Amino acid sequence: MQKIIIALLLYFVMAGNSIAAVWVKINENNLSKLSVDKQSILQKEQLTRAWIKIEYKTPQKNIESPDKEYDLSKLLWYFNCAEQKSATSQVFQYLNAQLIYSAGIDAKGAEFIEPVPETDFDLAMRYVCSTRKPVKTPSSTSPVSPTKPTTKPETVKNPVPQVAVAAENPAPVEPAPQNKSEPTQLAKAKEKSEKPVAHAAHWTYEGKEGPENWGKLKPEFAVCNTGLNQSPINIEDTVDASMKPLKLLQKFPIKDIVNNGHTVQANFKVGNILAIDNMSFQLKQVHFHAPSENTIKGKSFPLEAHFVHADAKGNLSVIAVMFKEGKTNIGLEKLWKQIPSDIDKPVSLKSRVLASEMMPANQDYYRFSGSLTTPPCSEGVRWLLIKTPMTASNEQIEAFKSVLKHHNNRPVQPLNGRVIIE
Ligand SMILES: [Zn+2]
Repeated sequence: MQKIIIALLLYFVMAGNSIAAVWVKINENNLSKLSVDKQSILQKEQLTRAWIKIEYKTPQKNIESPDKEYDLSKLLWYFNCAEQKSATSQVFQYLNAQLIYSAGIDAKGAEFIEPVPETDFDLAMRYVCSTRKPVKTPSSTSPVSPTKPTTKPETVKNPVPQVAVAAENPAPVEPAPQNKSEPTQLAKAKEKSEKPVAHAAHWTYEGKEGPENWGKLKPEFAVCNTGLNQSPINIEDTVDASMKPLKLLQKFPIKDIVNNGHTVQANFKVGNILAIDNMSFQLKQVHFHAPSENTIKGKSFPLEAHFVHADAKGNLSVIAVMFKEGKTNIGLEKLWKQIPSDIDKPVSLKSRVLASEMMPANQDYYRFSGSLTTPPCSEGVRWLLIKTPMTASNEQIEAFKSVLKHHNNRPVQPLNGRVIIE
């Protein structure tokens, strides 16, 4: 009986791949690489399905029979884009291109859940739901994708075990069981590093302890050099995902301001909230970089503000705001009156400064996954970069630079297949 089911499932996989697969990498990290077969994306009624491939850099244990290991999963995933829910319909696991396990359930019987943010499920859903095209003539059985035939499909001779597994490059990864727990841990590390306690280990923006060597300065900084989801980035190609507006509550002012030698950071009183992905993040602090760290279509800005938010588990979201030279910014005006030149000496702020004074009214944004831009460069950070720049006067920009005495922008990092959505 089991054999028959496997044979049947295999048949469907083959059928599903009868049109050459076009794998698009949508995420890669230390653990795995996630790709979607663009040709397989098919929308039927309210469900959109796609074949997904996850290549693991170290073998994973099968949950049902832990003696079986696999380094590649091919999955048929269904997405309810309207409700933002996903379900697994079929699973195939391979080790060295040999099928070791398979299971399947009809999409109707599958359990649809809201994916945990930033997991493969979530990333795949965002990609698939943003690229799907409505089917003009929904045929009930055709597995053929309606995607436009403009891109030349890569020829795939051997659809099922075609993937030469990424095991030749066993990166020094700690054996993390599932991606899910990872960002939390890393984010905790990051939050610590963002606190004004600052530089226990010495690092700089120039010279021997500069960005190219951050990963070698301390074992904890290794990901600065080995990470695949590092920040900052250049925003070039984006995927339109018609995202919801930012939900912000910003009634509580800045408490104090500190120059930690790497940046000038203003810490907020408790109570400001960013709501995203059904999660709630507290605004912790804003700090500045000159010139900007992220760039938009290759364009750098003279100043960039990072509003760092953390949830109860230590997951991080950073809202980035660019400043171009122009009119004086009122928030910065009040803030800079007390800008400290002494390192690590926080100063209580006398005037009332709100985050909203340093954010534009139009808050359309780019979203991508990234990292801290300073050591330890921990990944798993949600980045929300507001498209519309604010202005700051030339004097304001120069005032920041003269207090800091050096530029504090890490160079732009490779995207490595990450998708930027807008
Ligand atoms: Zn920053």
